[in-house]
Amino acid sequence: MHAVKTIAVLGAGTMGNGIAHVAARSGFAVMLCDLTPGLLERGVATIEKNLAREVAKEKLTRQQADEARARIQLATDREMLGGCDVVIEAATERFEVKAALFRELDRLLRPEAILASNTSSISITKLAAATGRPGQVIGMHFFNPVPMMALVEVIRGLQTSQATFDAVEQLAVAMGKTPVEVNDAAGFVSNRVLMPLINEAIFAVMEGVATPEAVDKVFQLGMAHPMGPLTLADFIGLDVCLDIMRVLEQGMGDPKYRPCPLLVRMVDAGWLGRKSGRGFYNYT
Ligand code: NAD
Repeated sequence: MHAVKTIAVLGAGTMGNGIAHVAARSGFAVMLCDLTPGLLERGVATIEKNLAREVAKEKLTRQQADEARARIQLATDREMLGGCDVVIEAATERFEVKAALFRELDRLLRPEAILASNTSSISITKLAAATGRPGQVIGMHFFNPVPMMALVEVIRGLQTSQATFDAVEQLAVAMGKTPVEVNDAAGFVSNRVLMPLINEAIFAVMEGVATPEAVDKVFQLGMAHPMGPLTLADFIGLDVCLDIMRVLEQGMGDPKYRPCPLLVRMVDAGWLGRKSGRGFYNYT
């Protein structure tokens, strides 16, 4: 693998625009790709707003922010990505969407290019098997908001080569992040540990052990968590939490990962947390 110069970011949503922002700020040429010009414009507007905030906080100069913005090219046509060294896929969390993209990119990209996925729950091993270059497929799991959070879980699929792992570990460092090595298993480390914590907190509320406010206060004041598990669940989205619990339950085949019935009911009611205006707390 030669030095990485150009990174394609697939998906300009919550995570994709954050990854493109950080890659451009770190000096890489970025091709940001989404399905429509409107989706790209929305992603770029967020990047510009976040770069301006970094200038206001004196983390970047105006010139550095302008240079970072100028490194980002937009594409709806994936044929334009052929010259990229690394793809970081942050598209919709559905296996068929990601597998179709990886198959297509496998055809378009140079043989030495790396295909990384920001998936939160889909098997890297299975995605790799959809391509003709399974040794060059890897997980690069960033955290929201990407410009602020230091961690990248670097996930080795069963077939991921050592050269690919080393290149992506270096890339994460070059993007100003701290990589942590993880093997491919349901939920990786972050969600495997975090989601059962959130789920258990919901059981405590359902069983009347404590109110959401009290549960959150225990974690903030007793464990120095910046926000309690129910505030965090509202922030992540209760539908996303439920999906991840189901992935864990299915992936491990262990009933200890069963989603709390109160979580299921709240999602059924459309109470999805911050984004819907109501979750464990009211946001209206
Ligand atoms: P999002 O819905 O905000 O953005 C996804 C974007 O991908 C959309 O703009 C969509 O139009 C685009 N897209 C779909 N198909 C595409 C294609 N074929 N080509 C190009 N773009 C395509 O989702 P998100 O929250 O940014 O999540 C993206 C990925 O990151 C998911 O795999 C998710 O599991 C993972 N992730 C999310 C978070 C989080 O906190 N939101 C954290 C870590 C990882």
